[in-house]
Amino acid sequence: MCGIVGYIGKRQASPILLDGLRRLEYRGYDSAGLALWSDGGINVFRKAGRIENLRKAVNEISPFGDLGISHTRWATHGAPTDENAHPHLDQSGKLALVHNGVIENYQILKDQLKQDGHEFHSETDTEVLAHLAGTFYDASDEADLKTRLVKSVQEALSRVKGTFGVAVMHADVPGVIVGARLGSPLVVGLGKDEQFLASDVAAIVAHTRDVIYLNDYDLVTLTRQGYEVASLDSQRTARVQVSKVDFTEDDAEKGAFEHFMLKEIYEQPQSIRNALRGRLNRDECTAVLGGLNMSPMELRQIDRIIFSGCGTAYHAAMVGEYLIESLARIPTEIEFASEFRYRNVPTDKNTLQFVVSQSGETIDTLAALREAKRKGLRCLGIVNNVASTIARESDGGVYIHAGPEIGVAATKTFTSQVAIMTLLSMLFGRIHHLSSTDGLEMIDELEAIPEKIESILKQAPLIKSIAEKYAHAEGMLFMGRQINYPVAMEGALKMKEISYIYASGHPSAELKHGIIALVKPELPSVFIAPDDAVYDKNVSNIEEVRARKGPVIAVTTEGTHDIERITDDVIYVPRCKSILSPLLTVIPLQLLSYYVALARGCDVDKPRNLAKSVTVE
Ligand code: GLU
Repeated sequence: MCGIVGYIGKRQASPILLDGLRRLEYRGYDSAGLALWSDGGINVFRKAGRIENLRKAVNEISPFGDLGISHTRWATHGAPTDENAHPHLDQSGKLALVHNGVIENYQILKDQLKQDGHEFHSETDTEVLAHLAGTFYDASDEADLKTRLVKSVQEALSRVKGTFGVAVMHADVPGVIVGARLGSPLVVGLGKDEQFLASDVAAIVAHTRDVIYLNDYDLVTLTRQGYEVASLDSQRTARVQVSKVDFTEDDAEKGAFEHFMLKEIYEQPQSIRNALRGRLNRDECTAVLGGLNMSPMELRQIDRIIFSGCGTAYHAAMVGEYLIESLARIPTEIEFASEFRYRNVPTDKNTLQFVVSQSGETIDTLAALREAKRKGLRCLGIVNNVASTIARESDGGVYIHAGPEIGVAATKTFTSQVAIMTLLSMLFGRIHHLSSTDGLEMIDELEAIPEKIESILKQAPLIKSIAEKYAHAEGMLFMGRQINYPVAMEGALKMKEISYIYASGHPSAELKHGIIALVKPELPSVFIAPDDAVYDKNVSNIEEVRARKGPVIAVTTEGTHDIERITDDVIYVPRCKSILSPLLTVIPLQLLSYYVALARGCDVDKPRNLAKSVTVE
């Protein structure tokens, strides 16, 4: 959450910072600001609302400055106002700081600083950190200016509890930006006589593809000529590795699509192909996942699997539970990462933990990983972002290779995560009970999925017209059974996230245990009812809703025309092996929520109160 961009070099900083913020806007968009250094002074601009507001304010003045830091905020402490927007200044007004994260002990520090005469202008925790750093900036110190600034940041950070990614500059210290991280991502971009600092590589990939992903406790000092990385923790030495970014700035643009979400929905045939590429072995009738870093013997000893994730990743893990239990017969559990981290789950040496996160930075999921490792569990990551903290801290894992996902509502990463869960179930299945013929059938069926998704996408006009019909519904119920129950959950989540219609997902049979009380003409139900072993059961549940005058939209398999008799609207998906059906049935639900949100005039890519990559608890 939130975006940070810093620049130091020969060019004017403000266009670079504003363009970087625009690319990070999906990470937080309630207010934004930037600070520029010029002639021994700092110019600060802060605006509530979208980056566009900040751009207008900055462009009115076109300020000079070849060094600057900037921020797009996702408020945790204090409303999204001009005053609470970052950067924040210290008491002297000379030190400016932007921050991603939460300072948990800010109130105690603020009270102390107030007693010492400090005046605060915002309600944020961040301003306290700026003031604290300012108190440690010692103008009489013999050390050079750069060292003085580094020391003040180090001292301040040693006194705070919580998480941070920070960028700091000082009016008296020309040519220096200091950055540090603990729990919030930060990346350094290397250029010729210019350097960048950002919370996400997407902000700077237009300028450089040579980057250093900072680790927790790293403190970096940037000058025009280069960088130095030190450790905030005297027990650790900073390890620096320069990496090449594996995507271009175009990958993170919308292209001809109206929204990132729509673009990402349409990318799914390709993103699934990317997830499968090189991972299907026809000779052995299985999946190959080298990144697990486990020998066949170690894999065979696993007798229990735990998946942890949040939001959409949790729903993908729910699908994974069905897949692994049915193909590999290994008991599998799913845990909300935010719950797992505080629970004392009994485990033993043969338990394998997977953490699932698109960004690889989700703070709860990262904490679940750390908790699992503390308990001695082997913990693997299923992530999209190859340079993320989870990717680095896990014992191994699988990249989903979905490419940048900018739409706040996850779409292609859900299907890619499910594709990976399928590969895992085949891998574990083949070393236990799955026959070679069944393994081969899975490979054939999986390889056919992308084309089937393409045919569903062609039905967008039909789905749009259904969406328009129900766009003003009071609420929506999503029902599914077995492996399509998680799809019902995911469909409801998409609807809530981007259209703000209250929606909930349930196992279809749970209807009569309470939910049916809600059924009425103003509340449509979406049934995910492919032609599988529980199709008839779903049909009975549809009848129960119809009997109470609830409108029904069904997602079912091509050729299942009898369902038309008892439903108001039907969306057909191609036939596939039942266990793979979530990869198809979720697509109409993504499109349905997209078109409902559009019909309601909602900002699809930047839904209210949400932001991508949740780096606060
Ligand atoms: N806690 C800080 C604030 O509320 C930073 C939030 C963020 O990460 O955007 O201002």
